[in-house]
Amino acid sequence: MVKEEKNIKNNVYESIIVGGGPAGLTAGLYLSRYRVNTLLIEKGISGGQVNLSETIENYPGFPEGIIGPELMQRFEEQATKFGLKIVNSTVLEISQEQHENKTNFKISTTDRDFYSKSVIIASGGEASKLGVPGEIELTGRGVSYCGTCDGAFFRDKEIVVVGGGDTALEEALFLTKYASKVTIVHRRDELRGSKILQERVFNNPKINLKWSNIVLSIDGKTQVESLQLKNVKTGEIITFSCQGVFIFAGYKPIYPSLGELKERLVNDSGYIITDDNMETEIKGIFACGDVRAKSLRQVVTACGEGATAAFSVELFLK
Ligand code: NAP
Repeated sequence: MVKEEKNIKNNVYESIIVGGGPAGLTAGLYLSRYRVNTLLIEKGISGGQVNLSETIENYPGFPEGIIGPELMQRFEEQATKFGLKIVNSTVLEISQEQHENKTNFKISTTDRDFYSKSVIIASGGEASKLGVPGEIELTGRGVSYCGTCDGAFFRDKEIVVVGGGDTALEEALFLTKYASKVTIVHRRDELRGSKILQERVFNNPKINLKWSNIVLSIDGKTQVESLQLKNVKTGEIITFSCQGVFIFAGYKPIYPSLGELKERLVNDSGYIITDDNMETEIKGIFACGDVRAKSLRQVVTACGEGATAAFSVELFLK
């Protein structure tokens, strides 16, 4: 935790980074090396969603793969080594404020307000919910959004994975370490995830696929006992017995309240719009990583964007 000066309004950072995942930590590393006075605010442990990954296999330089939290710990070590200051607090709002004839950004957190000349929003995203009856009530009682966190509770149990993207496929493969049987329930008859993961899924004897099915409800008294599934092609509804449901139905961006700035920053799907330099329409606000409107959400793309955002901030400050 950084020791803060008392005179808050005169203590204006040159840049504040919101979020300490791969994008934010890379931006912090670069800004520290540019000797830009930067503060990174992270609500929990540095690393964001990567902390939920058991092994990252496609981050270059680690041919054997690397454990997600370990990679993120290394990112943090490297950034703080060059002087990045990190505080743990939840950012509630980003707003603009006039102070001594200058427009600064006010970053309001659960602990206090911070001020800066520029902001990098790198607050990432989180798993989407299915929104079906039983999902919320049985979360932690058989419903999970993280195989790495909860897989070990399902040793020799039959589980369902919902979704057909990279996350669902990776997690289904990971969960075969514990579960006796994994059934992937997908709403279409074609998977969205990458071909290499599809091959592994099709070749895994513990994984079955239930195509063109949607979950109507998750049922059980105190623990998950079954799902109501509907075949969207035939209309048939069945009760499917299982002890666990892992939901990987996509992703949505997370960011603090942006007040009146939001209208100029966000697209129809809720992601933050930037140009190739990570600049938003509002001068001094930049965004990078999973919170951005883009097609590929990977650690490696987040890093590239973090570096680009830092470069743009440095130019902006000049
Ligand atoms: P995603 O690619 O958006 O896939 C979400 C999956 O959930 C899709 O198959 C989607 O079905 C399904 N889905 C969405 N809403 C649903 C609902 N209400 N009911 C049932 N199914 C629903 O999300 P993701 O897999 O989390 O991946 C997010 C990003 O991270 C992607 O860009 C992905 O490539 C990347 N990622 C990469 C890796 C890797 O390369 N190792 C690992 C993890 C994630 P439809 O297909 O019908 O839309």
